[in-house]
Amino acid sequence: MPIIAITGTPGTGKTSVSAELRSRGHTVIDINEHLRRHNLLGEKDVLRDTYNVDMEALNDSLQEYRDMPGNILLDSHLAHECDCSRIIVLRCKPSVLAERLRARGYSEAKVKENVQAEILDVILCEATDSDIPVNEIDCTEGTPSDAVDFIERILNGETEICPPGTVDWSGEMEEWF
Ligand code: ADP
Ligand code: MN
Repeated sequence: MPIIAITGTPGTGKTSVSAELRSRGHTVIDINEHLRRHNLLGEKDVLRDTYNVDMEALNDSLQEYRDMPGNILLDSHLAHECDCSRIIVLRCKPSVLAERLRARGYSEAKVKENVQAEILDVILCEATDSDIPVNEIDCTEGTPSDAVDFIERILNGETEICPPGTVDWSGEMEEWF
């Protein structure tokens, strides 16, 4: 069954949007929790404070979900690297993203790294480099529920809405580089 990746820079809204998706009856897999449960977290990269993930093992472990009926959504900044049939990239304006990450207690270095990645469209480019169809949703304003309204329309076949390439954060470039 279709696996849909919900991806984006940390703080763009993946987990909030996933909670709203679940409350509307969708099945969403929290990839971090899934990796822990399946003992698939690799070694910790202490410098970057992230875990190395074996994507092949992750894809194999998603097989159980592929056999389930209906759409399965994945919540992770790695989701777009999984075998999936659509990638939805959540976006957030850099100044707003910085505030969200600071509120989470991220160090300024970590805030800067993520904001720079958002400005450079890193995840969007990784997504569009694949042959998988991509949508992009700006989650700077509005609510997670608004984003889910768009996602449900996409899932219902309106695949042309929210095309990739609609956000442009280059205006905030100078401030962050
Ligand atoms: P991620 O999982 O991508 O790191 P989170 O969902 O954990 O992001 O955090 C996003 C934060 O931004 C939450 O505090 C959420 O309430 C807030 N937020 C504000 N507006 C939106 C929106 N339109 N969509 C998603 N999150 C939003
Ligand atoms: Mn999250």
